[in-house]
Amino acid sequence: AKQPQVKKPVANQDTKQITVSKSEDLAEWYQQVILKAELLEFTDVPGCYIYLPRSYHIWELIRDFFDLRIKAMGVENSYFPLFISEANLQREKDHVEGFAAEVAWVTEGGKTKLDKKLAVRPTSETAMYSYYAKKIRSHRDLPLKLNQWNNVVRWEFKHAVPFLRSREFLWQEGHTAHLTEAEAGKEVLEILDHYAAIYEDLLAVPVVKGRKTVNEQFPGAHYTTTIEGFIPAVGRGIQAATSHCLGQHFAKMFEIKIEDPTQKEGEKKEKVFPWQNSWGFTTRSIGVMIMIHGDDKGVVIPPRVSNVQVIVVVVGITAKTTEEDKNTLLDKGAEIKKTLKSAGLRVELDDREGYSPGFKFAEWELKGVPLRLELGPKDLEKSVVATARRDTGAKGSIPLASLTSDVPKLLDTIQADMLKKASDEFAAHRKIVREWKDFVPTLNDKNVILVPHCAGGECEDQIKEDSAGTVPGQEVDAKAPSMGAKSLCIPAEQPEEIKEGQKCINPKCGKDAAHWVLFGRSY
Ligand code: AMP
Repeated sequence: AKQPQVKKPVANQDTKQITVSKSEDLAEWYQQVILKAELLEFTDVPGCYIYLPRSYHIWELIRDFFDLRIKAMGVENSYFPLFISEANLQREKDHVEGFAAEVAWVTEGGKTKLDKKLAVRPTSETAMYSYYAKKIRSHRDLPLKLNQWNNVVRWEFKHAVPFLRSREFLWQEGHTAHLTEAEAGKEVLEILDHYAAIYEDLLAVPVVKGRKTVNEQFPGAHYTTTIEGFIPAVGRGIQAATSHCLGQHFAKMFEIKIEDPTQKEGEKKEKVFPWQNSWGFTTRSIGVMIMIHGDDKGVVIPPRVSNVQVIVVVVGITAKTTEEDKNTLLDKGAEIKKTLKSAGLRVELDDREGYSPGFKFAEWELKGVPLRLELGPKDLEKSVVATARRDTGAKGSIPLASLTSDVPKLLDTIQADMLKKASDEFAAHRKIVREWKDFVPTLNDKNVILVPHCAGGECEDQIKEDSAGTVPGQEVDAKAPSMGAKSLCIPAEQPEEIKEGQKCINPKCGKDAAHWVLFGRSY
């Protein structure tokens, strides 16, 4: 299977249909789908995209959903500058090393060379924490919980993939400071639960919760928790979102400190450093949703995030239909739209003249509208509408009298079935592998794998090298992706206990296994 890559925008888009199948050429399919369904457009800056209303709407719904939840946790929104001074960016050693290769710099203003170049934020720890040092003077200033909805720039040199890996992306980044490690740790997991809920409840995308190994954690973090998704078409994992406990590293570098509130009267005043967290969720999520649910007809958008949930199409009008019958049908169509709208649904009526029903069906299918209602003369006689589900193609009918209860119910069923289908598929491609000889072949069958592992960094590097396609003695499919496997996470829910004396799967390692670790090729 080919990987989605950025190609030149397709010049000839006169056909509205998707002309390749998802299973044959995923890269081409993905590009056609996002362009033809009017989700995204390319620009002349590689890796930077236009999020059109049809995808931006999904982002707005994600924002509303998550914003409510973090506000309930006492988080407040704020805004910090796009530019970071070099001095601040470099204050945490691991952090700057981790991001060095991806930072975009501003070196000129107009025609003048700047005395001190400015970084465009790749993330805002170092943009925010000088302020935190000023703001946090005593334990009474804790916890401090700020979030911002903004853009960041990471000048990635791996090929960009619209939504999934772009150079500029939209996200929220939360930054909090707490008195104790326990309090910080509790929040890290609460946020991870909210992230999982965005994927599962809104986007109908299953994820696995876990912790990153040291090799894969955020630069400068104490530890990183993550949710990992899976793209079945290529059998690859994708990091869906991350919630980090930064520990006290940044607090030490930025001199965020307070007097120890646990000290007794008369004791020497000791300074303590707060425990910090940061957590981010990006527009990548929209790409994961498209990749997972889309099919050869186009995108399939889950009802909860689709900007049109129901499309009403009037059918069965022929040359023989009288003007009166035609108007009755169109009026009824408009009435259905009104009824469903007042029931709180996002609904449109396609009453365009000069287009066949088949053409209209295909267009709304391409755009991924989850439910189509068809109204023809025979339906009207029986006081029903015909229904067609986008996800399964299943047909049915609903009495006009019970539209406002039956349509929302059907949309809920579609939402639940989409998650179930994707969850079953992910579960079927998450295989337990116990011996090294099965490692690469199982990956090549488009799986991610759970293996006993020592959780050591060098061992992980070794595995990446040895699983990269040309392993001596391994039968590797010439067409299989040659990329090596990395650890995706240490799943919170372990498949079974690690047994006494159980070894790391890597025969060159020889250490005892510490956990079951999820490995996979990944985006
Ligand atoms: P980080 O701040 O590195 O933990 O990144 C937060 C989240 O951003 C990751 O978990 C990814 O899901 C997502 N992400 C990372 N790089 C990109 C990118 N280039 N484009 C879109 N999303 C990204």
